[in-house]
Amino acid sequence: MNVEEFTAEARAFLDAHATRKPDHADEFRWGEGDDFVGIVEEGDPETEAAAVAAAREWAATRFDAGFGWIDGPIALGGGGLGGEHVRAYRALESRYELPDLSIFTIGLGMVAPTIAAHARPDTAHRYLAPLHRGDLIACQLFSEPGAGSDLAALSTRAERDGDDWVVNGQKVWTSNAHHAGIGEIICRTDPDAPKHAGMTAFLVDMSAPGVEVRPLRQMTGGAGFNEVFFTDVRIPDDHRLGEVGGGWAVAITTLMNERASIGSGMGLGRGPGPFERLIALTREMGRDGDPIARNRLAGLYAQQQALAWTAKRALAALQAGRLPGAELSILKLGGTLHLIGIADYAAGVLGPRLCADVGEWGTFAWNKLVCGAPGARLGGGTDEILRNIIGERVLGLPREPKG
Ligand SMILES: Cc1cc2nc3c(=O)[nH]c(=O)nc-3n(C[C@H](O)[C@H](O)[C@H](O)COP(=O)(O)OP(=O)(O)OC[C@H]3O[C@@H](n4cnc5c(N)ncnc54)[C@H](O)[C@@H]3O)c2cc1C
Repeated sequence: MNVEEFTAEARAFLDAHATRKPDHADEFRWGEGDDFVGIVEEGDPETEAAAVAAAREWAATRFDAGFGWIDGPIALGGGGLGGEHVRAYRALESRYELPDLSIFTIGLGMVAPTIAAHARPDTAHRYLAPLHRGDLIACQLFSEPGAGSDLAALSTRAERDGDDWVVNGQKVWTSNAHHAGIGEIICRTDPDAPKHAGMTAFLVDMSAPGVEVRPLRQMTGGAGFNEVFFTDVRIPDDHRLGEVGGGWAVAITTLMNERASIGSGMGLGRGPGPFERLIALTREMGRDGDPIARNRLAGLYAQQQALAWTAKRALAALQAGRLPGAELSILKLGGTLHLIGIADYAAGVLGPRLCADVGEWGTFAWNKLVCGAPGARLGGGTDEILRNIIGERVLGLPREPKG
């Protein structure tokens, strides 16, 4: 099917199942709407459960109509079309009022591509369609108390027992583990091998006996990530990803996809772009004539444009069949710096309004962004690690001395 026919079908589907955003919905008007910072309300379990249910319902409706996994292989439940069709659909879908689908980011942006690249065909067949249909949410079980940037220091053990592996250990900072049906876990399977060679990746059933998920409260008030404990958890060998001892290569597949999806999705969520909101905030706070505020806004605008062009370059590389490498690290680091810049600017303009909810529209709500932004400096590769990668692999600087 050519892209024009496909787009016409997609438009008919969206018109029948969703409400089109009003014209000029991307213009931001102070005092209108409740999604003004665009961060999902965390912390209130009922609100969170309702948001997840709405996301799942939309994912299922979209999948059943053939728009949930447009470029997936037909044999696995996908649409068998190309990247051009995916982009056309995404552009169209962004014009409709829809639930926030960020609960699927890790599953679809990181775990699903890893399953496609490294799982056995029957395992891929079992999980890929449910992930795209929203029946299954996935989490990424990499970090441990003693292994973050140095992921290869991980110590969660998996020992072979017949057709199963038995897992014992602890993971931490696992986003959305409390909603996840499966997790991608990297374990140490050979403690005597050099550390990068002694790891193996698996898919673990998060409801298996011995898996315990404990929430971690963040300074935003939410508990979006968790500690996960594994006590004699059995994983069948057909849920192994890649070779025994090949866990590092599997982790790299996931991390490259993670940087791509974080970098390209960095921003303030749905609704008007951050820049429109910052200008409205500046005007509302009476700072639009302030040369310092104007100078900082100009800097943020330039940064936003540079990021957009970098993202386009990465996309062009993908379209040309090249795997973007360095662009992804630059995009993730640049996106983080931009987010921190926005949070810092908003905090400066708002002053004490950021800390006390006095009912003034569009002021206190920024605190979720301001408190959440520093986490972006860590998740998906810390700023320092990304700088090391850019320094060594892009600029060709000498490698970091090994400690
Ligand atoms: C919002 C959020 C969501 C997350 N979600 C997940 C998830 O779903 N699954 C998961 O597995 N993990 C997740 N993480 C964990 C994340 O991957 C780790 O925080 C990250 O890898 C850093 O590890 P660490 O926290 O142990 O810090 P460390 O690695 O201990 O680093 C501490 C500090 O030292 C610096 N540092 C370390 N090594 C170097 C070096 N070689 N050169 C220079 N500086 C260095 C770091 O940059 C950092 O500033 C999440 C984290 C956040 C904040």
